[in-house]
Amino acid sequence: MDDFHPLHLHWKPRRYDRGPLVRDARRALSSADFAAEVAGLALLFVQKGVGRGDVVATMLPNRIDIVVAMFAAWRIGAAFMPINPALTSAEALYQAADSGSRLILVDAAARERLTGTTATLLPVDAPPERSAAVLPDAAVAADDTALLIYTSGTTGRPKGVMLSHGNIDAMLHSIHGALRLDGDLSLLVMPLFHVNALLVSILAPLAAGGGACILEHFDRHSFWQSVRDSGASYFSGVPAMYLLLTAERGAIAPAPRLRFAICGAAPMPAQAIGAFEARYAVPVLEGYGLTESTVGATLNPLDGPRRPGSVGRAMPGIEVAIVGEDGAFCPPDTVGEVAVRGGNVMKGYLRRPEDSAAVLVDGWLRTGDLGRLDGEGWLTLVGRKKDLIIRGGENIYPSEVEEAIMATHLVAEAAVVGRPDAVMGEVPVAFVVAPEGGDADALIPALQAEIEKALARFKRPVAYHLLDSLPRNPIGKIDKPALRQRLERAAQ
Ligand code: ATP
Repeated sequence: MDDFHPLHLHWKPRRYDRGPLVRDARRALSSADFAAEVAGLALLFVQKGVGRGDVVATMLPNRIDIVVAMFAAWRIGAAFMPINPALTSAEALYQAADSGSRLILVDAAARERLTGTTATLLPVDAPPERSAAVLPDAAVAADDTALLIYTSGTTGRPKGVMLSHGNIDAMLHSIHGALRLDGDLSLLVMPLFHVNALLVSILAPLAAGGGACILEHFDRHSFWQSVRDSGASYFSGVPAMYLLLTAERGAIAPAPRLRFAICGAAPMPAQAIGAFEARYAVPVLEGYGLTESTVGATLNPLDGPRRPGSVGRAMPGIEVAIVGEDGAFCPPDTVGEVAVRGGNVMKGYLRRPEDSAAVLVDGWLRTGDLGRLDGEGWLTLVGRKKDLIIRGGENIYPSEVEEAIMATHLVAEAAVVGRPDAVMGEVPVAFVVAPEGGDADALIPALQAEIEKALARFKRPVAYHLLDSLPRNPIGKIDKPALRQRLERAAQ
């Protein structure tokens, strides 16, 4: 235990002296200011009765205080849990209770929604501790839970994914290896209650002598200005963000410090990466991972050819394999469930041993995603197990149908889900969004005609629904359960 020195607990003052360590819309903190805030908040946590092994949470929009709270929790050996500030009262109370949170850092909106919780609510703007006492760093073991992140996963109510200090350390070594971070400054636009933001945009640069600039949320009109103003060398985003930026009109001023951008979390249409790169002249590395793997699993390379349509190859120190229905590893180019192994794979779900055992099999994480690896280890995803449509015994991968619809260039967005069918079991139905200024009436017949040429009959959607926009969750993933519900309601 004594010789475990995880990368993230030893963030360094910024290398190359390019300004504050972390900054948000309200303030900027130097390394010394940041260290003082962490120490002050850690002391306050102890005074409020929080100790080693407890869970400390925040329920706040993106701001520095979330990062300070995370380090303060670790300073006293507690686990940190960021709660999505958009949750309803019932959802937030469930998460607070399920996690056994001892203390939650809140603003006025969160305080109101958490009324009735047994956790101590600490106002985020409480005056900092100015005691002369200095807390020693609590020693942490590799297996201690560092982060508790709730994910809805495939079934049931949200579950707490337990990520240990060892998991984070392994993931950071992998990210540093893949991206060769050195004094890099990230621009954070993703919500901080998600591993992508915490690992890729906060912990990775801080542990590499860099810094982070935190935006409260993504705004397509001001985004590029923020990139330039911050001097960021990279940012990480979701497909929806890249699609919106590509569609932005107007002149583009260069952002000379920008080295690369990362895209993940949801399927990105293959041609969309090229369109973004052509417009902004910055390489976009598509990657794949999940909360249960502490964010990463595969990534397209920083140097060398990237493959549109593939989410890349296994990141350093991580193994990726494809498992068949019988549980055996599949040969190359065979579709099966993606499995991940490495020091980044979660400890398990909090107090849900059965759920944990269902996905942690022989040291491998079963991801619930379907994909295939080619002979050189490039991974292509074809959908999620739960989204697979089985039409009279034939497997239909929604992503294949969605790609075919997007390739017609007739629609701005597309999502395909299964609709229960008395005869076939399930049939595919498409939801599409018309491009701006398009002729909506002519769209569906034109699309149907194109899809007849592109896809075998059994894969063709039986119905097309035109929507103004697709429902999305807070990080921009298409909310397929909501689309299925819509179909169920229509059938009633
Ligand atoms: P929630 O937090 O709402 O439960 P979730 O179940 O999607 O969301 P996450 O851990 O946030 O959980 O997301 C992981 C999933 O995101 C993966 O299992 C995969 O299905 C999807 N995903 C991640 N990266 C990509 C990618 N590049 N292309 C397609 N899908 C991706």
